[in-house]
Amino acid sequence: MSPSALITGAADGIGWAIARTLAATGWRLALVDLDEGAAAARAAELGAGHLAVRADVSVEEDVAEAMRRAVAAFGGLDAVVNNAGIADTHLPTVEQDAARFRKILDVDLTGVFLVSREAARVMLPRRSGSIVNLSSIAGITGLPRRNAYGAAKAGVVALTRSMACEFGPAGIRVNAVAPGYVETALVKALERDGRIDLGRIRRRIPLGFLAQPDDIAQAVAFLVSPAARYVTGTVLSVDGGWQAF
Ligand code: NAD
Repeated sequence: MSPSALITGAADGIGWAIARTLAATGWRLALVDLDEGAAAARAAELGAGHLAVRADVSVEEDVAEAMRRAVAAFGGLDAVVNNAGIADTHLPTVEQDAARFRKILDVDLTGVFLVSREAARVMLPRRSGSIVNLSSIAGITGLPRRNAYGAAKAGVVALTRSMACEFGPAGIRVNAVAPGYVETALVKALERDGRIDLGRIRRRIPLGFLAQPDDIAQAVAFLVSPAARYVTGTVLSVDGGWQAF
């Protein structure tokens, strides 16, 4: 029986790379995204046996329904990848809007909690499963003007470790991946708007180039695989050496 996984934010960027990578090694997938049409097109591209579900990860009812549909389709769930996320406004803290700050925490942190809680409700009685959460270098090192995003991504690290301790005795592993800068639509839009300088960023990265979404997908594929059976509560940095600098 092929393993099954639910991936949030799977219609684009890193989430789509994770979906392609897992599907290529035989996983059946529930592609969860705000953008229903894009998720459906991606599921069709992967072929038969995959599912597209519209859900906002920050809305409890959406998350419960997405989990219900995935479990009904697959008869269980072996892995969840909490990838959905929104970028920061890159505003100085004194100019940050409280509503925007809350929104970023809602999607990037509360969303991870809600999806993980539903996943745990499925996995705990079965005493098996694995959860991988997308953090970021912004949650580990200080980056200017990442007040909300950095706080959310640091929260993801703490939540990952807490759940790893709690679920470990039931055989459920929980890990995080912390990407550095990845060449996605999100990052390209930030450069277009003049909010980041990719030339400067490349010079700051020891390996000298930005990650491709597939680089992050490979790390996730390892963490959900049996090869990582003794790995839990860890944060795997995939950042070209950013934190070593
Ligand atoms: P992206 O914007 O390219 O794709 C994000 C996907 O998530 C989109 O398909 C979008 O529709 C979906 N989404 C957004 N809000 C959602 C919600 N509330 N509910 C469900 N789906 C939602 O983003 P990306 O660059 O691929 O980033 C993916 C993850 O990786 C995010 O958690 C991000 O913070 C993290 N990350 C990205 C980078 C980077 O450089 N791109 C670096 C570090 C961490």
